[in-house]
Amino acid sequence: MAKYSEKAGDKVEKSMHKMKEGKLKSGSGKKVTSKKQAVAIGLFETRKEGAKVPKKKSSSTSTVIAMKDENKISRRQVVAGLGAGIAAVAVSPALSMTAGKPAAGAAISDPTKLYSKPPFKSQPQPWPGLQSKMDPVPDCGETSYKGSGRLTGRKALITGGDSGMGRAAAIAYAREGADVAINYFPSEEPDAQQVIALIKKEGRKAVAIPGDLREEAFCKQLVQKAISELGGLDIIVSNAGRQQSANSILDITSEAFDSTIKTNIYAPFWIIREALPHLPPGSAIIGTTSEQAYDPSADLYDYAQTKAATMNYVKSLAKQLGPKGIRVNGVAPGPVWTALQISGGAQPEKQQIFGSWTMFGRPGQPAELASIYVQLAAADASFASGQVYGSSGGVGQP
Ligand code: NAD
Ligand code: MG
Repeated sequence: MAKYSEKAGDKVEKSMHKMKEGKLKSGSGKKVTSKKQAVAIGLFETRKEGAKVPKKKSSSTSTVIAMKDENKISRRQVVAGLGAGIAAVAVSPALSMTAGKPAAGAAISDPTKLYSKPPFKSQPQPWPGLQSKMDPVPDCGETSYKGSGRLTGRKALITGGDSGMGRAAAIAYAREGADVAINYFPSEEPDAQQVIALIKKEGRKAVAIPGDLREEAFCKQLVQKAISELGGLDIIVSNAGRQQSANSILDITSEAFDSTIKTNIYAPFWIIREALPHLPPGSAIIGTTSEQAYDPSADLYDYAQTKAATMNYVKSLAKQLGPKGIRVNGVAPGPVWTALQISGGAQPEKQQIFGSWTMFGRPGQPAELASIYVQLAAADASFASGQVYGSSGGVGQP
């Protein structure tokens, strides 16, 4: 458990003092009144309980030292894990998702030394999975993302906003000053409620709209509910996705194929078509595509073609909607540690070594892509449309 350390340095003491005077504020300008709140939004450094606090170091220096130590352990455990089998990796959560993430506001951090590295523990979950049950739990920026008012007053609908990239975008958007509606599959309520609480904590409006995107009627209701609850809509992040690995096309039933196409291709079509008459000029539509759009894996025959379609609709709609002042862009992640992968998205053997093939020897974390979703939505990205921004650890495309 991470614990707030008052000994960590002057910076923390200064913040404590500010808080007592009622002058400590979050990235979105909201007053911070408790230590717990300050730690949750990353204003204070956190430290593993029982870890030594180096004397007379600034808090950020202390964190860097903790990160280095964690990384040494990580490498040793990875080697041990590879040699002695996956059982040795059961302890890998200790590799620390807390100390291994960049300190809030850190000026520089080495991507090879951040976050847990494979091998990961085998942890299959039934679709669509809960990220809160994953080990390690994906980092969606809960304690690290700092806003600076880039989306003040904006109104966003994010599909798949309960977990993974959608959750990272939802947290970041709220901290940048936007009100946010999230959609998710009903069984994902526990993950979704965490996101709703985080959005509310920023003083922003949070709207939870569970439902199945494979149904046209629901997609229409989703848009109408988001508009009525938020009082309008100017950002759509069409991020939800279904990925079920199958080694052979012979193993893909028509029902499974239909589910993937409905979720990944029909739902964005239904949602964008329903929302368009309500989107003012300056609105942004963002689709989550994938490196699979460009370099499909053998076991993702159905999924990969939907991601190529996503990349394609982004470019087509950007041309169609550009004259109306609506920008349409895509994000193409590489391997990112999310519930999608452990709930059928990747074969079990691949889950355990997930992301080892990137140049950083690890998968990405959703938090590492949050700023791309912010950038593409922000008004100062006014010339970006029809673009696909990638983030894949030095491999993959675009
Ligand atoms: P995730 O499992 O955390 O998020 C996917 C979300 O899709 C789920 O949380 C669920 O809410 C939603 N969803 C799926 N089917 C649905 C349905 N029928 N009705 C309602 N909601 C439904 O995983 P993620 O990796 O964050 O996925 C987000 C996007 O990123 C997806 O489009 C995925 O294809 C894409 N992507 C992921 C990776 C990766 O390595 N994780 C890589 C490239 C692209
Ligand atoms: Mg989910």
